[in-house]
Amino acid sequence: MKINLKDIPVGPDHPMPEKLKWAKLVYDACSQKLLEEPVVRSLLSDYKDSIQENWKVMKDTGVVAECTRCAMQDGGSCCGSGIENKFDVINLLINLLMGVELPSEPWDPTGCWFLGEKGCRIVARHVICVNFMCRRLYDALSPEKVKAVQEAMQRETENGFMLEEYLKTWLARHG
Ligand code: SF4
Ligand code: SF4
Repeated sequence: MKINLKDIPVGPDHPMPEKLKWAKLVYDACSQKLLEEPVVRSLLSDYKDSIQENWKVMKDTGVVAECTRCAMQDGGSCCGSGIENKFDVINLLINLLMGVELPSEPWDPTGCWFLGEKGCRIVARHVICVNFMCRRLYDALSPEKVKAVQEAMQRETENGFMLEEYLKTWLARHG
Protein backbone atom coordinates (compact mmCIF):
# COMPACT_ATOMS: atom_id res chain seq x y z
CA MET A 1 0.00 0.00 0.00
CA LYS A 2 1.35 3.44 -0.95
CA ILE A 3 1.13 6.05 1.77
CA ASN A 4 1.64 9.77 1.82
CA LEU A 5 3.99 10.50 4.68
CA LYS A 6 2.53 14.00 4.94
CA ASP A 7 -0.69 12.41 6.25
CA ILE A 8 0.99 10.99 9.38
CA PRO A 9 -0.83 12.37 12.43
CA VAL A 10 1.66 14.66 14.16
CA GLY A 11 2.00 14.88 17.94
CA PRO A 12 0.48 12.77 20.70
CA ASP A 13 -3.15 13.97 20.55
CA HIS A 14 -4.66 11.12 18.55
CA PRO A 15 -6.38 7.87 19.60
CA MET A 16 -3.97 4.98 20.16
CA PRO A 17 -5.52 2.73 17.45
CA GLU A 18 -4.91 5.49 14.89
CA LYS A 19 -1.32 6.03 16.03
CA LEU A 20 -0.68 2.27 15.96
CA LYS A 21 -2.15 2.00 12.47
CA TRP A 22 0.10 4.80 11.19
CA ALA A 23 3.22 3.50 12.92
CA LYS A 24 2.68 0.12 11.21
CA LEU A 25 1.99 1.74 7.84
CA VAL A 26 5.16 3.81 8.04
CA TYR A 27 7.11 0.80 9.25
CA ASP A 28 5.89 -1.33 6.34
CA ALA A 29 6.64 1.42 3.85
CA CYS A 30 10.00 2.67 5.16
CA SER A 31 11.65 0.23 7.57
CA GLN A 32 13.81 -1.43 4.96
CA LYS A 33 15.26 1.88 3.75
CA LEU A 34 15.55 3.23 7.27
CA LEU A 35 17.39 0.19 8.57
CA GLU A 36 19.82 0.35 5.65
CA GLU A 37 20.84 3.92 6.61
CA PRO A 38 24.10 3.96 8.59
CA VAL A 39 22.96 7.01 10.61
CA VAL A 40 19.72 5.30 11.66
CA ARG A 41 21.55 2.09 12.52
CA SER A 42 24.06 3.98 14.61
CA LEU A 43 21.42 6.07 16.42
CA LEU A 44 19.31 2.97 17.06
CA SER A 45 22.30 1.08 18.39
CA ASP A 46 23.32 3.94 20.74
CA TYR A 47 19.74 4.26 21.96
CA LYS A 48 19.40 0.51 22.61
CA ASP A 49 22.74 0.48 24.47
CA SER A 50 21.69 3.39 26.70
CA ILE A 51 18.32 1.73 27.44
CA GLN A 52 20.09 -1.45 28.51
CA GLU A 53 22.61 0.53 30.53
CA ASN A 54 19.81 2.43 32.28
CA TRP A 55 18.08 -0.85 33.23
CA LYS A 56 21.40 -2.18 34.55
CA VAL A 57 21.91 0.94 36.67
CA MET A 58 18.32 0.72 37.94
CA LYS A 59 18.90 -2.91 38.93
CA ASP A 60 22.30 -2.25 40.52
CA THR A 61 21.07 0.74 42.54
CA GLY A 62 17.94 -1.02 43.81
CA VAL A 63 15.34 0.94 41.79
CA VAL A 64 13.95 -2.21 40.19
CA ALA A 65 13.69 -3.98 43.56
CA GLU A 66 11.98 -0.97 45.17
CA CYS A 67 9.49 -0.62 42.30
CA THR A 68 8.76 -4.37 42.42
CA ARG A 69 8.08 -4.13 46.18
CA CYS A 70 5.88 -1.10 45.59
CA ALA A 71 3.86 -2.85 42.89
CA MET A 72 3.64 -6.34 44.44
CA GLN A 73 3.26 -5.52 48.13
CA ASP A 74 1.85 -2.03 48.30
CA GLY A 75 -0.31 -1.92 45.17
CA GLY A 76 1.65 1.04 43.84
CA SER A 77 2.15 1.76 40.18
CA CYS A 78 3.05 4.75 38.11
CA CYS A 79 1.89 3.19 34.80
CA GLY A 80 -1.67 4.46 34.88
CA SER A 81 -4.16 4.71 32.06
CA GLY A 82 -3.59 7.76 29.87
CA ILE A 83 0.21 7.79 29.84
CA GLU A 84 0.06 6.12 26.42
CA ASN A 85 -1.53 9.35 25.15
CA LYS A 86 1.89 11.00 25.43
CA PHE A 87 3.27 8.72 22.70
CA ASP A 88 3.30 9.84 19.09
CA VAL A 89 3.68 7.84 15.88
CA ILE A 90 7.47 8.30 15.91
CA ASN A 91 7.79 6.80 19.41
CA LEU A 92 5.77 3.80 18.23
CA LEU A 93 7.75 3.51 14.99
CA ILE A 94 11.00 3.38 16.99
CA ASN A 95 9.65 0.45 19.00
CA LEU A 96 8.74 -1.35 15.76
CA LEU A 97 12.24 -0.68 14.40
CA MET A 98 13.57 -2.32 17.57
CA GLY A 99 11.49 -5.42 16.91
CA VAL A 100 8.84 -4.73 19.56
CA GLU A 101 5.40 -6.19 18.95
CA LEU A 102 3.07 -3.36 19.94
CA PRO A 103 -0.05 -4.51 21.80
CA SER A 104 -3.31 -3.87 19.96
CA GLU A 105 -5.18 -3.39 23.23
CA PRO A 106 -4.38 -2.72 26.88
CA TRP A 107 -3.88 -5.72 29.16
CA ASP A 108 -5.30 -3.78 32.12
CA PRO A 109 -7.98 -1.19 31.28
CA THR A 110 -6.99 0.86 34.34
CA GLY A 111 -3.32 0.87 33.32
CA CYS A 112 -1.22 2.30 30.53
CA TRP A 113 -1.87 0.68 27.14
CA PHE A 114 1.66 -0.77 27.19
CA LEU A 115 1.56 -2.20 30.70
CA GLY A 116 1.58 -6.00 30.83
CA GLU A 117 1.46 -8.65 33.50
CA LYS A 118 5.22 -8.40 33.98
CA GLY A 119 5.62 -4.65 33.54
CA CYS A 120 6.20 -2.48 30.51
CA ARG A 121 5.78 -4.30 27.18
CA ILE A 122 7.79 -1.89 25.03
CA VAL A 123 11.50 -1.05 24.82
CA ALA A 124 11.59 2.62 23.81
CA ARG A 125 9.59 4.27 26.59
CA HIS A 126 8.41 7.85 26.66
CA VAL A 127 10.67 10.41 28.31
CA ILE A 128 8.13 10.88 31.13
CA CYS A 129 8.36 7.14 31.94
CA VAL A 130 12.15 7.13 31.82
CA ASN A 131 12.67 10.27 33.92
CA PHE A 132 10.13 9.54 36.65
CA MET A 133 11.52 9.24 40.19
CA CYS A 134 8.97 9.26 43.00
CA ARG A 135 9.46 10.32 46.63
CA ARG A 136 9.74 6.67 47.69
CA LEU A 137 12.76 6.16 45.42
CA TYR A 138 14.46 9.34 46.62
CA ASP A 139 13.98 8.11 50.20
CA ALA A 140 15.25 4.59 49.44
CA LEU A 141 18.39 5.53 47.49
CA SER A 142 21.59 7.24 48.61
CA PRO A 143 22.41 10.55 46.88
CA GLU A 144 25.19 8.78 44.93
CA LYS A 145 22.73 6.20 43.62
CA VAL A 146 20.18 8.88 42.72
CA LYS A 147 22.91 10.65 40.75
CA ALA A 148 23.90 7.44 38.92
CA VAL A 149 20.25 6.75 38.01
CA GLN A 150 19.69 10.31 36.83
CA GLU A 151 22.79 10.20 34.62
CA ALA A 152 21.68 6.90 33.05
CA MET A 153 18.18 8.29 32.51
CA GLN A 154 19.63 11.34 30.83
CA ARG A 155 21.75 9.27 28.44
CA GLU A 156 18.69 7.23 27.48
CA THR A 157 16.45 10.25 26.90
CA GLU A 158 19.13 12.14 24.95
CA ASN A 159 19.78 9.20 22.62
CA GLY A 160 16.04 8.68 22.16
CA PHE A 161 15.59 12.36 21.34
CA MET A 162 18.36 12.31 18.73
CA LEU A 163 16.84 9.29 16.99
CA GLU A 164 13.32 10.80 17.07
CA GLU A 165 14.54 14.05 15.55
CA TYR A 166 16.50 12.26 12.84
CA LEU A 167 13.49 10.12 11.91
CA LYS A 168 11.22 13.17 11.73
CA THR A 169 13.69 14.89 9.39
CA TRP A 170 14.08 11.74 7.32
CA LEU A 171 10.31 11.32 6.95
CA ALA A 172 9.85 14.99 6.08
CA ARG A 173 12.57 14.65 3.42
CA HIS A 174 11.03 11.52 1.95
CA GLY A 175 7.46 12.77 2.24
S1 SF4 B 1 8.47 4.78 40.68
FE1 SF4 B 1 7.66 4.97 42.75
S2 SF4 B 1 5.42 4.77 42.52
FE2 SF4 B 1 6.36 3.98 40.65
S3 SF4 B 1 6.55 1.76 41.01
FE3 SF4 B 1 8.51 2.73 41.58
S4 SF4 B 1 8.35 3.08 43.76
FE4 SF4 B 1 6.25 2.73 43.02
S1 SF4 C 1 6.76 2.48 31.57
FE1 SF4 C 1 5.64 1.42 29.93
S2 SF4 C 1 3.76 0.69 30.88
FE2 SF4 C 1 4.64 2.26 32.24
S3 SF4 C 1 3.65 4.18 31.64
FE3 SF4 C 1 5.55 4.03 30.49
S4 SF4 C 1 5.00 3.04 28.56
FE4 SF4 C 1 3.31 2.71 29.98
